[in-house]
Amino acid sequence: MSEEVVLVTGGSRGIGKSIVETYLKAGGYAVYGTATSIAGKMKIDQILEKHSGIGSGLVFNMLDESIDDFVKNFLSEYGTPSILINNAGITDDALFLRMSESQWDKVIDTNLKGTFRITKAFIRHMIKARKGKIIFLSSVVAALGNAGQVNYCASKAGIEAMCKSIAREVSNRGITVNCVAPGFISTDMTDDISSELKEKLAKSIPMNRFGTPQDVAEAVFFLSSEKAAYITGTVLNVNGGMLMS
Ligand code: NAP
Repeated sequence: MSEEVVLVTGGSRGIGKSIVETYLKAGGYAVYGTATSIAGKMKIDQILEKHSGIGSGLVFNMLDESIDDFVKNFLSEYGTPSILINNAGITDDALFLRMSESQWDKVIDTNLKGTFRITKAFIRHMIKARKGKIIFLSSVVAALGNAGQVNYCASKAGIEAMCKSIAREVSNRGITVNCVAPGFISTDMTDDISSELKEKLAKSIPMNRFGTPQDVAEAVFFLSSEKAAYITGTVLNVNGGMLMS
C-alpha cells in the first residue's frame, strides 16, 4: 500500500509538530513538515526518525519571493500531496494606533498571502488527481477580534473567507477544504503571555485551561480522514468553549 502524502507547513514547533507526530503515529502517511531554517528542518527529521516514519523535514519560508522551486521540487520528489495542512503562521502584536504598516504587511504576507500562494500552487495538482484534503489553521480571534492583534485577526478572518470560497470552487472535484480555529493553545506563540494573564485567560475559558497542540492536531487529523468525507467549507472550533456558535 502506498502512503498518503501529507505536507504540513510550520511542522517544527507547536501545533505543526503535533500534527506531524499525529500522522506518524497513525501510520500509512509519508509526512513532510516545513521549517524556515536548517535547524528546524533537522528537528522535523528527528521526529521522523523517532517514529521510524517516512517523510522529511524541508526548508520553506512563506515570505520567499518565489515558491516555484519549492513546489516543483516537492512534486517531483514526493508527488502531489493528498493532504495539505496550512499551519505556518506568525503574530506581531501592537495596539492599532501603534501598529506600523510593516507589522501589518509582515503578518498579512506570511499568514494570508503565503497561505494563498502555497495552496494555489498545489491545488491544481489535487484537482487533476481528483483527491485532496486542505486544512487551514485559523483562530478563534477571527470571529472574536482581539485588542493588539488587528493584523493577525484580519489574516485569520481572511483565511476563513478564503477557505469557504475555495471550498465552493473545488468541493465537486474530490477535494474538501476546511479550517480548524484554535483558542488559546500552549505553544511558543502564547509563551510570552505573563503567567498572571494566562491564569486570568484560563478562568475565562469554560474548560478553564489552555488547549494543547495535540487537542488541535486531533481535529486536523479528523478533518483529513474519510470520517469527515462530507464536511467542507466549515470552521471547526477547538477552544474549550471560548466561542460557541
Ligand atoms: P508556533 O509555535 O509559533 O510555530 C509556528 C510555526 O510556523 C513554526 O514551525 C515556524 O517555523 C513556522 N513559520 C513561522 N514563520 C514562517 C514563515 N515565514 N514561513 C514558513 N513557516 C513559518 O505557532 P503555533 O502556536 O504552533 O501556531 C500554529 C498555527 O496555529 C498558526 O497558524 C497560528 O496562527 C495558529 N493558532 C495558534 C494559536 C495558539 O494559541 N498557539 C491559536 C490560534 C491559532 P520555524 O520553526 O522555522 O520558525
